[in-house]
Amino acid sequence: MTKTIPEILAGETFARDDVIALLSTTDPADAEAIRTAAHRVLVDNCGTSVFLRGLVEFSNRCASDCHYCGIRKGNAGVKRYCLTKDEIVDAARFCAEAGYGSMVLQSGERRDERFVSFVEDVVCAIKKETVSNTLPRGLGITLSVGEQTPEAYKRFFNAGAHRYLLRIETSSPRLFASIHPSRQSFEARLACLAFLKDAGFQVGTGVMIGLPGQTVQDLADDVLFFRAIDADMIGMGPFIVHRQTPMARHDEAMAARKKETLELALRMIAVTRLVCRDVNIASATALQAMEPLGREMGLLHGANVVMPQATPARVRRDYQLYEGKPCLDENAQECRECLCGRIRSLGREPATGQWGDPKHFDARQRHAAAQQ
Ligand code: SAH
Repeated sequence: MTKTIPEILAGETFARDDVIALLSTTDPADAEAIRTAAHRVLVDNCGTSVFLRGLVEFSNRCASDCHYCGIRKGNAGVKRYCLTKDEIVDAARFCAEAGYGSMVLQSGERRDERFVSFVEDVVCAIKKETVSNTLPRGLGITLSVGEQTPEAYKRFFNAGAHRYLLRIETSSPRLFASIHPSRQSFEARLACLAFLKDAGFQVGTGVMIGLPGQTVQDLADDVLFFRAIDADMIGMGPFIVHRQTPMARHDEAMAARKKETLELALRMIAVTRLVCRDVNIASATALQAMEPLGREMGLLHGANVVMPQATPARVRRDYQLYEGKPCLDENAQECRECLCGRIRSLGREPATGQWGDPKHFDARQRHAAAQQ
């Protein structure tokens, strides 16, 4: 006999079939029951705080050619930039003063020594510049600069970065192959996630939702993948077409499925919260690109991290992974005010001046210590 949604929610653990059933339900009462259960698990495991990470997109130069991404190497229509060290440190100082406690440095992917040593140098400089009474260990730094060698990851960690985001994009090797050129492999991406953990990082991963050919079974396997690799942080968002990419041909089909994709993305957040419990989950900016209140909706479905824009406005337009990127015109201070107001309107509190590490990482550390 198949279980009902309330029966599945009453259980302690979730089998693959349960996850598929939770993701597939279209019944509004069941959908609301899933959302409420996810909120309860969030409050019980992580509290009601929303952690803020100032997002600095410091360069759009990229050596990769992901079929979905607007800043892929093959897109000749992009004006390429790389912020200077001083500009990035200024943005970091803004994040610290705004009370974000933590920041994300994101860019296109480059693996040349010049880039690796630049990132290392910038991380060191930010650490030095942002130590204060309120932030005795300086600003928390998350890197999101793609696939690198184990040595590069170690250098970034030793420089003072302590979290790293590298989405698997999809846990299906078949689907992964369909959205990347053949020289970008699923196995290499997986290996990088292991290197990051070995280097000592709190590791974040995630997927895009609504990819052409992606099934609800694939998405259920994504959630189980997060649990299997013991991820500390998860970031997921809807796939949004960028017209200057090879995936532009899916534009019409995607537009027709917009509402469905948004609902599925929110459901993925809720189900990931139910299965992974004490991880940090970001309410991705792509949710807001799809729907003006998308990020708030993400927070109501179990997410507890938001990444306010802190990229200097002059280059923000040149960093468009997908179309409809929000907050292109506001300055960083306006982004802060707007976001904190929105968080409070949900009855949640923006956490200020804290790194906001995922509880899962502490548990993982304790477990590792006990094994020794
Ligand atoms: N180059 C780095 C970071 C930038 S891309 C890296 O590869 O990790 C950050 C994330 O944006 C990607 O992992 C992908 O999941 C998401 N992204 C890229 N293009 C997108 C699109 N068209 N729609 C939705 N998300 C997209």
